Amino acid sequence: MRAIFLGPPGAGKGTQAKRARDLFSIPQLSTGDLLRQAVKEESELGLKAKGYMEAGHLVPDEMVIALIVERMQQPDCADGFILDGFPRTEAQAVALERELEERGTPIEAVINFRVDPERLVERLVGRRICPNGHGEYHVRFHPPRAEGRCDVCGAELVHRPDDHEDQIRTRMRAYDQDTAPLIAFYESRGVLHDIGADGDMDGIARRVESALKSVS
Ligand code: AMP
Repeated sequence: MRAIFLGPPGAGKGTQAKRARDLFSIPQLSTGDLLRQAVKEESELGLKAKGYMEAGHLVPDEMVIALIVERMQQPDCADGFILDGFPRTEAQAVALERELEERGTPIEAVINFRVDPERLVERLVGRRICPNGHGEYHVRFHPPRAEGRCDVCGAELVHRPDDHEDQIRTRMRAYDQDTAPLIAFYESRGVLHDIGADGDMDGIARRVESALKSVS
């Protein structure tokens, strides 16, 4: 199964991609996570990407494309993968298509998470993340039991530097301008599945699962 999860920031792609990863036993490749790891390690790529990310701008195409192509070559991707947060521009989509065409392994499904844009800012501003990968919380919609602490490991939850209102607005603009046109791109390839993603997480997960099962 080779799938792309497409949608604006805060649409819940990451959460759903992790659920699908567990269900289909294939890796979830998040360019945001790979870039944040590079920033943490202060690698050459991380140092270059940091400023763009903190401001809410997209990292330049060539950097992200090189990163994901290298990751897709790892042995754990042999049976497929879920791309979460990539591609985000037409240049990235074209580069991905070429790369996969060469390997004879095209994308089989693109899940488009359709959400009410009014709710996205609220979702992102209140989002808090466990630094040890135990998932996401929300100060109002899904608060942890002890304020500011992960329920699973007790670590102090992180408020991402780009989850503040100014940066969120910049990310939304980047989505509207650069990423939203990919909906038509993948529709023209006949692989697009539109999913209403405003409801409860279990209902959304069921719709994602049935879309993915219809092509696998
Ligand atoms: P995310 O975790 O997917 O919200 O990504 C966080 C940030 O990483 C984005 O706001 C961008 O600065 C950068 N980023 C992640 N994926 C991409 C991509 N495909 N193209 C360009 N920048 C990206």
